[in-house]
Amino acid sequence: MTATIRRQSAHPPLGSRTPARNEDFFDEAQLAELRAYSRPRKKVDLVAKLVVGAIDLALIFLLDLGPEVAGWVDGAPWPLRLVVVAGVFALISQVLVLPADWWATMVHDRRHGLSNQSSGLWAADQVKGLLLNVVLSGLLLVPIFWAVRSFDTWWLVGGLAFLAIALFLNFVYPVLIMPRFNKFTPMEPGPLRTRIEEIAELAGTEIEGVYTMDGSKRSRRGNAFVAGFGPTKRVVVYDTMIDGSGDVSFTLEQIAQVVAHEIGHYRLNHIPKTFPLAGLQMLVALAFVQYVVGSETVLGWAGVDELGDPGAAPLFLLGIGLPMTLLGVVSSWVSRRNEREADLEALELLGDPTSFVAMWPGFVALNKADLEPGWWDRLNATHPAVAERMQFGLDWAEMNGVPAERPAVAAVPDPATESAG
Ligand SMILES: [Zn+2]
Repeated sequence: MTATIRRQSAHPPLGSRTPARNEDFFDEAQLAELRAYSRPRKKVDLVAKLVVGAIDLALIFLLDLGPEVAGWVDGAPWPLRLVVVAGVFALISQVLVLPADWWATMVHDRRHGLSNQSSGLWAADQVKGLLLNVVLSGLLLVPIFWAVRSFDTWWLVGGLAFLAIALFLNFVYPVLIMPRFNKFTPMEPGPLRTRIEEIAELAGTEIEGVYTMDGSKRSRRGNAFVAGFGPTKRVVVYDTMIDGSGDVSFTLEQIAQVVAHEIGHYRLNHIPKTFPLAGLQMLVALAFVQYVVGSETVLGWAGVDELGDPGAAPLFLLGIGLPMTLLGVVSSWVSRRNEREADLEALELLGDPTSFVAMWPGFVALNKADLEPGWWDRLNATHPAVAERMQFGLDWAEMNGVPAERPAVAAVPDPATESAG
């Protein structure tokens, strides 16, 4: 039962929710445990966002810090002043989120047995993240500001330039940036590697190799992905999925499901397909910057004369962020649709809905997934809810007459029997 039903199977709709209930798959004790992890995290996250946002606004509009910093390097060529302003603001926002980040990874995740991170590694990540932020914002801002300073329709050209840079980054990210944070090792020959190579062949996707990534040095969380393009294309599995760090372990066929899903994304060109939408969103955001943020009134609030001034950089980034946040709802919807399509790929390719559905409880336990997101998180979720994905697998099996086993909902621990021994 493999490739026979590919691309012909009946399936639940890809563009909308699959009706599903958490209670059908998870017991109240587990939901409560996940809640105890997610709720404080979401609260701290929200408070941090509000505080950082408020401080950011104050720095830009009350203290006019953009032109102020640009003044520190007065006389220097404008690209250098721009990078200095962007760098100072990147440093400030990084420092502002430090306490919340420390609490989330080094306190909360550790308390819940998720984090494996040493404080040294955490600090190194922060420094590398900051450097990356400065380099990337320089790489993106200098050409855009050059356009702003050169012609009025810069936002049209800027949208295209952004698209080109985003494409380029997408190519170099797995090759140049990811190895700065993690180590990739060719997977030892064995049943898992053989199975992954088989799946790639079954999907008609040529891969350069199968690798493991040392995700365990940071956290217990696990995943897999396909990285690279053309000849460098590889399947990467987190070591946490394979080692089964104690209480969570996956069967070979469950890992196979994750890999088939990832290869599905690849085969269906999900990443390249999102570029036109991302470009369009950027275009709208840049037009907003030109006509709203670039108006004399708003520039005046931030103490800036012209949009092309290096001191306008923080205002510029703020102006992009606002429409991007609203438009993110659209790209999240597209992403959820793509996820369902990749799930469908895994189901069709492997024809094993039992393993597909059985993989999820382990995944939830490993990643302490938030099974009860609020409306804003649901609207912005890049993946469908776990219960929906499990129900999707069961519905697919039923629609195609493929036998599937529903995983048992673990019984709520009974205090009476527990105290009895
Ligand atoms: Zn996916």
